[in-house]
Amino acid sequence: MEEIELIKGDITQLEVDAIVNAANETLLGGGGVDGAIHRAAGPLLLGECRSIGGCPTGEARLTKGYELKAHFVIHTVGPIWQGGNHKETELLRSAYINSLELAAIHELDSVAFPNISTGVYRFPKRIAAQIAIKTVTDFCYRNTFPKRVVFVCFDEENYQIYRELLNRV
Ligand code: ADP
Repeated sequence: MEEIELIKGDITQLEVDAIVNAANETLLGGGGVDGAIHRAAGPLLLGECRSIGGCPTGEARLTKGYELKAHFVIHTVGPIWQGGNHKETELLRSAYINSLELAAIHELDSVAFPNISTGVYRFPKRIAAQIAIKTVTDFCYRNTFPKRVVFVCFDEENYQIYRELLNRV
């Protein structure tokens, strides 16, 4: 792994090769980070998403970035937290791995992740952060791309959790 970074802010403003979208299975837009990405990318993004025809939970799909500074958007669908006995941890791990696989296949140097599933999908933030950091660290150790991963925290609680956990890596 070359670099893992942590920033607090709005993922739509980042100049990276790809930003990851915490989408829903329809890929037709929604609230939270999904809504923000569609607003910033412009209507052509929705058109391309519509042509993909959805994405199952745990998988990922690549589109162009349109009006974003990022060249691509990797749309992934994290699990809805249902108490922890519905494969939530495996599915969250898959969402990160499948996003990273797309970045690797397309030889993208830099990728930014939001805190997938920790908004309206209610995944406990600390468990989600542990999964995100471990999955990204392991993947980047074994792969040439991406070379740089940015964790983008929008809320202070996630930012503090990531700061604490990353200081231990
Ligand atoms: P999910 O349905 O996967 O829970 P949400 O969009 O509701 O998706 O929340 C996921 C995370 O995205 C939350 O931690 C939320 O604070 C964060 N978030 C919301 N808007 C933005 C943004 N503009 N940039 C980065 N992160 C954001």
